[in-house]
Amino acid sequence: MEISIVIPLLNEAESLPELTRWIARVLQANGLTYELILIDDGSTDDSWAVMEALAVDDATLRGIRFNRNYGKSAALNVGFEAARGRVICTMDADLQDSPEELPELYRMIVEDKYDLVSGWKQKRFDPLTKTIPTKLFNGATRWISGIQLHDFNCGLKSYDQRVVKSIEVYGEMHRYIPVIAKWNGFRKIGEKVVQHQERKYGVTKFGLERFVYGFLDLASITFVSRFRRRPMHFFGTLGSLSFFVGILLTLWVVGEKVWLSLHNLRARNVTDQPLFFLALTAVIIGVMLFLSGFLAEMVQLNGPRRNDYLVREKLN
Ligand code: UDP
Ligand code: MG
Repeated sequence: MEISIVIPLLNEAESLPELTRWIARVLQANGLTYELILIDDGSTDDSWAVMEALAVDDATLRGIRFNRNYGKSAALNVGFEAARGRVICTMDADLQDSPEELPELYRMIVEDKYDLVSGWKQKRFDPLTKTIPTKLFNGATRWISGIQLHDFNCGLKSYDQRVVKSIEVYGEMHRYIPVIAKWNGFRKIGEKVVQHQERKYGVTKFGLERFVYGFLDLASITFVSRFRRRPMHFFGTLGSLSFFVGILLTLWVVGEKVWLSLHNLRARNVTDQPLFFLALTAVIIGVMLFLSGFLAEMVQLNGPRRNDYLVREKLN
């Protein structure tokens, strides 16, 4: 099978018939073998009934239904696990993404050997309240990850199967799949300008909270991907630094006091000088960071995923 199309959906019943027909038309016209995996992320409208009806005479359609709403990342993750194609494409269910882009997204993976290709909605049809924060979000993510994409959160993407099978997304992390992929060693990341339409039916499923959660997730991803296997390197470095500064300050404070007394000069109480408090705080923070590092190291050591390194190939 050449392509798996993975589509998370929440209350998109009106769009589904048109969406599935359009995808089938485009892929068949290009002679591609495919499966369509729809993940109903706890819809409360008739999305599932519509999917059941569509599946009756469409053998390419597979459906997964969550018992409640878990979020787009969860839906994608389950879709990725189920996918059997050589290339996996994702898109939104609301007809904002065009299926016409799929053949080229597929070709870029297979022929140009990209690990991941992300869509870029160069001309967007969304309200300003969304496009402006999105620009900030993309700028910050580019800066932190070093990946030069314009539109990290574009729903339309294609992946080499190896990428999809090696990453796990949860929370709101679907926004950072290119970042996670890069940190797993998939460095050939491409971009394709894609068509974008206004939402035809229904309403958007994300509010402004997306930006708050989005940034918190970026912080966790950055931390986890760098230090998950060696938390002591992070906490230990900071802790030692703080402890060392604290000790130097202590030596200074004590030394000054001793020196002044030896020379029979009047010295103020050590507690009367600000440096004393700085020294105290630095030592305490240093020790606390160090202990956090030890604890994190122990938790990590006993965790279930201690040695899950990603092996690319094997001989014999
Ligand atoms: N979606 C989902 N679970 C959610 C929220 C959204 O599966 O909890 C789906 C939604 O049905 C759509 C896609 O994710 O297919 C993108 O959502 P939406 O179009 O509302 O986002 P926007 O285009 O406004 O960024
Ligand atoms: Mg949308």
